[in-house]
Amino acid sequence: MSGGAEVLVELKQRAGCCIDEAKAKLHSLSKDIWSCPELAYEERKSHDRLVAFFRQEEGWKVDAHFKLDTAFRATWRAEGGGGRGGGGRGSEPGDVVNVGFLCEYDALPGIGHACGHNLIAEVGAAAALGLKDVLENICSLPVRVQVTVLGTPAEEDGGGKIDMLREGAFKGLDMVFMAHPSKEDATYLPCVAEHDVTIKYHGKTSHASAYPWEGINALDAAVLCYNNLSVLRQQMKPDWRVHGIIKHGGEKPNIIPSYTELEYYLRTPSRAELPVLKAKAEMCFRSAAMATGCEVEVQFARNQFDNMLRNAALEELYERNGKALGMDFTVDEDVLKNESGSTDFGNVTFAVPGIHPYFYIGSNALNHTEEYCHAAGDDRAQFYTLRTAKALVMTALDVLLRPELLQRVKQEFTEAKLKEDRNMTGEHTEQSANSC
Ligand SMILES: [Zn+2]
Ligand SMILES: [Zn+2]
Repeated sequence: MSGGAEVLVELKQRAGCCIDEAKAKLHSLSKDIWSCPELAYEERKSHDRLVAFFRQEEGWKVDAHFKLDTAFRATWRAEGGGGRGGGGRGSEPGDVVNVGFLCEYDALPGIGHACGHNLIAEVGAAAALGLKDVLENICSLPVRVQVTVLGTPAEEDGGGKIDMLREGAFKGLDMVFMAHPSKEDATYLPCVAEHDVTIKYHGKTSHASAYPWEGINALDAAVLCYNNLSVLRQQMKPDWRVHGIIKHGGEKPNIIPSYTELEYYLRTPSRAELPVLKAKAEMCFRSAAMATGCEVEVQFARNQFDNMLRNAALEELYERNGKALGMDFTVDEDVLKNESGSTDFGNVTFAVPGIHPYFYIGSNALNHTEEYCHAAGDDRAQFYTLRTAKALVMTALDVLLRPELLQRVKQEFTEAKLKEDRNMTGEHTEQSANSC
């Protein structure tokens, strides 16, 4: 083993020890967030708890209510450069590598922390402490480093990271890390693009038996809308997803409904395809209004979720580090290809190179169930949560200590983004030539 490699191994071990030393306070942090589940954009107590956590730690500059009421930022930069000894070889003044860790902490209505976001907050805090501890004890680093923790609310509903991107909260970051609880360890699971839409039909009430001809039936419009979309499915690509509910269907059977409301989620594997599906869906919404004589309002949500831009360099490093810590990464093709949701971290990956691996928490329960909520608050999850934080810090150290890797991470990001952008402009749209 070369001297440089030995140093790296030692630093990784040191980060792990630091995280283990902090395990009591980290556990208490996630337990407090778990015990008081708060919905998207209302995570006030969780925000305050995290802000207090970093304020109690030495050396962090903490901005409460950063860009959003329930978001925060905590930053630390080694004095005079990469470590105790100053700027380190090859670094230029002002040339700082800014490493970000994200904390989520919103919960779900009715079932609390059933997505385990309390553990995401713990991973982010643990990784930030571990990396800081190592960096402040290094005499020289090839680069100067800043560690930034962002508290990002409203992942389950709304997309707080997308609001924060719009506000410039991710500006200046060179890499960004987070990890999400799951039922298995995986460096990546498919995360698709999504846009949510609300459709409102306005008709006219009338007595449904005495003067039905005087009414304009908004429920008929809602039913046609639902059926139009069901008919559209045959012409949809197999990996597109459209799913919705009728939120309001009328008041009473003897009143022709004058108002109905539906909510749909539209998803495609890449953000380049989403406008195609949206246009088709919109024709379904509007034609239902035309057929029934209703007025229609089509309201797309403020934030559109992008698919995840993968970074193979970061994924490879994370997998190697995770395996060294005993992680058993899933090889189940069904899980790796088909398990798809959406996350606002997708939008982040189009702005900054990053990874969003998934981690086992000691339970086979599925996310968004009461069983998973229980598992996310169970002591058993702690070992796996801290192990994940260690693997993230080890990955960050790999990149920070080997500048050629940072270059590779950035180059892959640029190339992947370019490829997606080309898809957006249709330059590389592939048409199926299958005519059988
Ligand atoms: Zn979730
Ligand atoms: Zn989640």
